Amino acid sequence: MTKDDHSTTTSQFAHLTYPELRINDNLLDENPRVIKFQSKFESFQLHEPPTTNIGTLSRLPLELLQEVLYQLDIATLVGFRRVNRQAFVILGSVPAYRAIAKHARNALCGALAIGAGRWISCGTLYEKLSTPECEVCGDFAGYLYLLTCKRVCFICLSEEPLYLPLRLSHACRKFGLNSKIINKLPCMRVIPGTYSPNEKKTPQCILVDCKSALTAGITAHGSIRAMDTFVSDLKTQRFEEYIARKAAARNLGDGLSRVRRPPTHDPHDGQSGNPLRFVAVARVPCLSAASQELEWGFHCLGCERAKRSPLHYRRKFTVASFKDHLAQCGGIRNGEHHLN
Ligand SMILES: [Zn+2]
Ligand SMILES: [Zn+2]
Repeated sequence: MTKDDHSTTTSQFAHLTYPELRINDNLLDENPRVIKFQSKFESFQLHEPPTTNIGTLSRLPLELLQEVLYQLDIATLVGFRRVNRQAFVILGSVPAYRAIAKHARNALCGALAIGAGRWISCGTLYEKLSTPECEVCGDFAGYLYLLTCKRVCFICLSEEPLYLPLRLSHACRKFGLNSKIINKLPCMRVIPGTYSPNEKKTPQCILVDCKSALTAGITAHGSIRAMDTFVSDLKTQRFEEYIARKAAARNLGDGLSRVRRPPTHDPHDGQSGNPLRFVAVARVPCLSAASQELEWGFHCLGCERAKRSPLHYRRKFTVASFKDHLAQCGGIRNGEHHLN
């Protein structure tokens, strides 16, 4: 589809759609500290041409060097960029990095700011920039979950258990892990600030990716069943120890308030109201590799007041997926879908 064809088709649906919700999601890339980090990144520019080369790396053909850089993690790449002016120029010659720095700079800087840059390669970030679909449901997805670099739609990022990063103590308790294992998993530091559409304040803390912790738990215990048994036995043991400590404190006439009850349940997950679901998320368009156009997706007027899929005001569509949506849910009259 050419650029003109695309805009003609989009305008064909203009009366049935709208581009954005008037809701501020308070994502990572909207955090003032990340915005400051991003302007610092942007200010690092080349004002004079290189005068030296990059040492022994200069012996490699440029194509090979570009391929190596494509596969490196973004934290290392940004370090390489600072080596000297020649390194800056070479990195800028990698098409994938150039596209990321132009169209997903907020995601790049967000991932670096939370310390997740070492878990994401340049190639992976570029691949996600060029993929429109949510990795869970297949809808158009306008967000990247940066802890492990996944493309995700709003509904999945706010409801799917695996997109809720966990506090380290919670992950250890939930999957029967020790700190030695957990320290090797994709972790991030929360940039303190206001997150989620409900504007919840979140302090600085360290979180681990839930899916990585689950996988590590299954690997460490051999199976889900063995992991669940271990976790359940440990919970029982800790509760019995608590009862014993409480009884001892009562006998000694000590204050019972000093004996803390071990947590027995997961903390409440308020889904779209849970700020931890937004501390690693940036809004990113999809870059078409063929046309080099950006797709931001759009909302359906027929779903504007609906909250249950397939009719949901948070869903976003492309021209192709909107045609499927109309075929499935019916045409739109008076702001609502009608199958006949
Ligand atoms: Zn989804
Ligand atoms: Zn709709």
